[in-house]
Amino acid sequence: MSYSENQILDALRKVEHPEKKKNIVDLKMINDLKIDGNEIHFSLIFEKSNDPFIKSLRKACVKSIKEQLGDDAKIEGNVEIVARQKVEVKQMDTEKKSPKQDMITLPGVKNIIAVASGKGGVGKSMVAANLAVSLAQAGAKVSLVDADIYGPSVPMMFDVVNEKPRAVEVNGKNKVLPLEKYGIKLLSIGFFVDPEQALIWRGPMASNAMKQLFTEAEWGEADYLILDLPPGTGDIHLTLVQSLSVTGSILVTTPQEMALADARKGVSMFRQEQINVPVLGIIENMSWFTPDDATDKKYYLFGKEGGKQMAEEMNIPLLGQIPIDEKIMQSGENGKPEALNWSSKTGKAFREIAENTIKQVNVRNETMEPTTIVKIDPNAEGCNY
Ligand code: ADP
Repeated sequence: MSYSENQILDALRKVEHPEKKKNIVDLKMINDLKIDGNEIHFSLIFEKSNDPFIKSLRKACVKSIKEQLGDDAKIEGNVEIVARQKVEVKQMDTEKKSPKQDMITLPGVKNIIAVASGKGGVGKSMVAANLAVSLAQAGAKVSLVDADIYGPSVPMMFDVVNEKPRAVEVNGKNKVLPLEKYGIKLLSIGFFVDPEQALIWRGPMASNAMKQLFTEAEWGEADYLILDLPPGTGDIHLTLVQSLSVTGSILVTTPQEMALADARKGVSMFRQEQINVPVLGIIENMSWFTPDDATDKKYYLFGKEGGKQMAEEMNIPLLGQIPIDEKIMQSGENGKPEALNWSSKTGKAFREIAENTIKQVNVRNETMEPTTIVKIDPNAEGCNY
């Protein structure tokens, strides 16, 4: 049998935070409630990570759900509760930004995170999609922009291939309203152009199309806007750093030497003096393989911990490692990012990645100046990455 959301919330209303003397539903501590048959999942949001009642409240939630819903105080299936700290989103101090004429401003967007890779096929788009999902699960407002102009994958990964964003009028101007799926606002260049057509575009056309995606969309508010960049270092990357104030970048790599060499080039591009977009962290993908029938084994098919070592060498935080999982591939095709599945190994890996990303964005915004928009002449000296 399946339970309704109201039944679960009613049961949770009986649980009170001992210090705040209010029930945990009214305290808005319940986030991301999911009921799948008789499997119940939700996050319990605490203001402080060291709240002394984390353990006892988790127990009290399970007890109350079982008492209220289970026949004879028994409940079939599982109750999974993840305790999380309330997402505190620090923003770049926009006052300090020096807006230039051709800069695109997105007033409601607190942070723009560019997900990049040196090489194609390392799982960059998979990471961008699942990072967006996990940040939303942590309680943040998230938008995802698929800037992978020659190989857009967001439409398929979110099962919106046949959908088209609507146009709305805002202050007398026609704007595109991003699609919404799993609580994430989505726009992909793939909604507007056929990738085969995009392939024959010259650089400036691709860059203009990219700019339009930002200027002509009604983005509204977001704590994090995730940008899925094309692989490598090229025109689109330059366009974006010239027109958007990117909070920071995340580099995705596999542990293979070839991928690492290209990822280092990516880091160098972002760290170049003229570009100067902070690298928030490295994510190592396809780190190992664990067979279902030998869960204590790890096979390092693409080399061991190459991304982790690269992070240490380059003094960049390692945001997480993602194992090889057949379900990731399937989920990419069936339109449900695997991180939606909390208890899966990928779900757990992304929970950690989302927490580390939130932390690194906050550290960046507390300790560094806002990213300024740069004017770059790609042919100028010093731009050879
Ligand atoms: P990129 O954006 O870097 O080109 P994608 O995200 O499109 O790469 O991933 C390439 C392919 O590899 C996709 O089919 C994806 O589902 C698969 N993939 C990515 N990461 C994993 C993983 N950890 N385990 C299994 N398959 C993966």
